[in-house]
Amino acid sequence: MLNEKQKKALRSLPAISTILQLPEVVKLIKNTHFDLISDLVSETIEKEREKILQTETPTILSLSTILEKIMDRYEQITTPHLRSVINGTGVILHTNLGRAKLSHEAIKAVQLTASEYTNLEYTLSTGKRGSRYDHVEDLLVQLTGAEAALVVNNNASAVILILKEIAQGKEVIVSRGQLVEIGGSFRVSEIMTQSGARLIEVGTTNKTHRFDYERAITDQTALLMKVHTSNFKIIGFTKEVCLKTLVEIGKEHKIPVYEDLGSGVLYDLKKHGIGNEPTVQEAVKTGADLVSFSGDKLLGGPQAGIIVGKKKWIDRLKKNQLTRSLRIDKMTLAALEATLRHYLLGEAHEKIPTLKMILMDEKMIQERSQKLYEMLKPVVSDQFELKIIDGFSEIGGGSMPDVKLKSKLISLKPLHLPVHQFEQELRVSPPHIIGRIFEEQFVLDVRTIEIKEFEFIVEKMKRIMNHT
Ligand SMILES: *Cc1c(COP(=O)(O)O)cnc(C)c1O
Repeated sequence: MLNEKQKKALRSLPAISTILQLPEVVKLIKNTHFDLISDLVSETIEKEREKILQTETPTILSLSTILEKIMDRYEQITTPHLRSVINGTGVILHTNLGRAKLSHEAIKAVQLTASEYTNLEYTLSTGKRGSRYDHVEDLLVQLTGAEAALVVNNNASAVILILKEIAQGKEVIVSRGQLVEIGGSFRVSEIMTQSGARLIEVGTTNKTHRFDYERAITDQTALLMKVHTSNFKIIGFTKEVCLKTLVEIGKEHKIPVYEDLGSGVLYDLKKHGIGNEPTVQEAVKTGADLVSFSGDKLLGGPQAGIIVGKKKWIDRLKKNQLTRSLRIDKMTLAALEATLRHYLLGEAHEKIPTLKMILMDEKMIQERSQKLYEMLKPVVSDQFELKIIDGFSEIGGGSMPDVKLKSKLISLKPLHLPVHQFEQELRVSPPHIIGRIFEEQFVLDVRTIEIKEFEFIVEKMKRIMNHT
């Protein structure tokens, strides 16, 4: 039963036809079309009706308040939902912020394939049908030393494809210490079930020996798989069987060996004292039959799953029906080709944003922080405590969790505003600035912010200062 207040509130709701005749609404209809605006109006009224039914003491809304709600909803639905953000978190491959940023050349290549016809699946020299994979296979072979290569939608699909083609209905031996979960929804063990392969776990969480693998081999064994546990580290009393040993076991028993490298670096960061990630080239050289890795982790390219290895196995993968479903898009392919060419030309560290950010030296970081500090100083005046403090950036994307890159942070401590409210103001409206709260200070890591973004931060601060 409705009470009197509810009845009154319901009666006060304007008719849809009345709203549709308001000049502001007529203007929206002119800008778009009648059906869209009519839907927005009915949805808004329906929502208000629900609210009235759910409360004993409903408030009566004026026509102008309802109009405001319609306008807000219109704004919301007609402005892009996917926006650019300024990444001040210091996490270079921030999964929630879209992982790797592409190089200029990769962006240009994407633009070209998006706006022009291309020879995507057309052989220019013969005028016959070609393969989309040809645009990157040679590059991958050249760069990694593998016999052949194939690319799919992402590394998760590469794992599924390999398991399905090579081990469906058969057994795959994996060390218990490598049964990782990546990003909450991708579990190696579940992928295995999905692909129809039987998982044979060997060893314990911290130790797996050569004999563990050898004892588990039967006539049902189709694959020895190694998962590079790039997103966590077991430390202390541990033993892993290295790829070299696994390859020896595989050769002895005529069973292929596959390593899921996860990140997959082509540029040797170890040489710069950063992390201990094996390169793809090393895995290939050690003799793995198949190696797979992501395009948008440490490689610094678009989302893709890259598979390299022995021609015999790659040829089988190419023929699998699933490859068609996991097919890489033309824009991705274009970005990947451009990214790989940077490696070929020896310019990867100068052109690929991910590598540039990882390799940024202390002097450059110092200069950047000084520059942003000086731009902000006159703006924030006495309402914020502004400092440059020492901190660490992370690689992110589940790559090299133990690597901490020394960095400089701009610390802004609001003196008349709760820091959480300040953080929210920076984040919610454009330009969206994402940082971290650390001991009542809001901090921005300059490593992941581009110099051209500094002025946006200054402008935003000016705006915040004006209305506090
Ligand atoms: C990240 C990762 C994957 C998944 O790769 P995507 O390209 O994100 O699909 C698979 N395996 C390992 C070991 C990883 O680190």
